[in-house]
Amino acid sequence: MQMAGDTRENIVIVGGGICGLATALALHRKGIRSLVLERSECLRATGAAIILHANGWRALDQLGVASYLRHTAIPILSGQFNSLNNNKLQELPVGKDELRCVKRTDLINILADNLPHNTVRFGSDVVSIELDPITSSTVLQLQDGTSLNAEVVIGCDGVNSTISHMIGVTTKNIFNVCVVRGFTNYPDGHDFGSEFKLTKKDDVQVGLMPMTTNRVYWFITQKYVSQDHKISKSQKLIGDLAVASVKDFPGSIKEMVENCSLESLHFSEYLRYQAPWDILRKSFRVGTVTVAGDAFHAMAPFIAQGGAASLEDAVVLARCLARKTTLAGIPSGRGSSKMMVEEALDEYLKERKPRVLRLSLQSYLFAKMHDISSKFIKFICIVLMMILFSDSHGHTRYDCGSL
Ligand SMILES: Cc1cc2nc3c(=O)[nH]c(=O)nc-3n(C[C@H](O)[C@H](O)[C@H](O)COP(=O)(O)OP(=O)(O)OC[C@H]3O[C@@H](n4cnc5c(N)ncnc54)[C@H](O)[C@@H]3O)c2cc1C
Repeated sequence: MQMAGDTRENIVIVGGGICGLATALALHRKGIRSLVLERSECLRATGAAIILHANGWRALDQLGVASYLRHTAIPILSGQFNSLNNNKLQELPVGKDELRCVKRTDLINILADNLPHNTVRFGSDVVSIELDPITSSTVLQLQDGTSLNAEVVIGCDGVNSTISHMIGVTTKNIFNVCVVRGFTNYPDGHDFGSEFKLTKKDDVQVGLMPMTTNRVYWFITQKYVSQDHKISKSQKLIGDLAVASVKDFPGSIKEMVENCSLESLHFSEYLRYQAPWDILRKSFRVGTVTVAGDAFHAMAPFIAQGGAASLEDAVVLARCLARKTTLAGIPSGRGSSKMMVEEALDEYLKERKPRVLRLSLQSYLFAKMHDISSKFIKFICIVLMMILFSDSHGHTRYDCGSL
């Protein structure tokens, strides 16, 4: 079998989402070139907006793009929980540290804008990856029939990652929950101030978070029903579902959903996750191939950490690679340079695994507490949460360190 690729690259990042672009930027800041292969034909940002806690902002500071994003995203200072079932209004602690919500396209664009020209190659769908037994480099096969040799491969290709699959890791199915997300523009300003609001009625929960003085991000979480399958294909159907879901909610919420920006809508019909016990026991590296972002630690979105953890991955991975390799880039060739890269990837995984294990466990228990019908398992989840995560905002104070 002919294994050699058509071209040769030092570092290839598969996937140009938040993690892939952040990793390329972190490497670039350390003077290391990489190539990002993205299957879409252009930059793609699914899911309207992203909530970022202090740990995410620290990583963005290291990447040198935080101040641009802070410019528009207003800080969230307080939270309120409203249960419509028993008319109970409670304060919702948001922690004392930085919390803001940014438009996903703004985040993706600023990461990409800071990369050298031609770092991202669009329309490059990686379909398989194999180790070349002769050169011991990795050969990536693309959908268009071309192939590429890489000394280092970083899989940032999301929850259904081809690269994770190759290194023996797969995400698990599905929490029984679906989420509609979108934002609403208020040309004359909104009245939500700088408060995060969570409103619940029966199984439906609506969260809203001001992004700017004129824009509010919102999400609706509810039980997944199988006929929802066709909804994700149509913005109109997603909008109809969102409006129907909030029909018994207060006027300001109904208005917000009815007046949303149709193109911002996104429907997540199932939520995949990397089981915490897999994070603990799997190695996440084969040779010089590893993973980052959702390909490493897909987690339920209930503690809003998947994206922030991806940014942390980027900083740590670039730091570890730079520490072990020359500033001019990974030296091509075999032997000692390959060993150095493997050591760097092991250092990255050693640092990241305890962190993402805790995040993944916290979001898993949180999801199970709300998802599971068994009262006994729910009780166990609550007890574990109280023991392990008594400081519910502790994870947002994490500092991934300097680049
Ligand atoms: C409902 C919901 C709400 C969320 N809210 C938050 C939040 O508020 N805060 C937060 O921090 N996180 C949140 N997250 C998590 C966050 O969105 C993810 O953790 C983050 O987007 C992961 O980034 P990524 O780059 O790893 O993956 P992705 O964003 O999925 O990017 C993967 C990229 O790889 C490309 N790709 C895939 N396969 C291939 C291939 N074979 N070849 C080439 N390219 C490929 C894709 O086209 C895509 O561009 C939420 C998630 C969900 C589902």
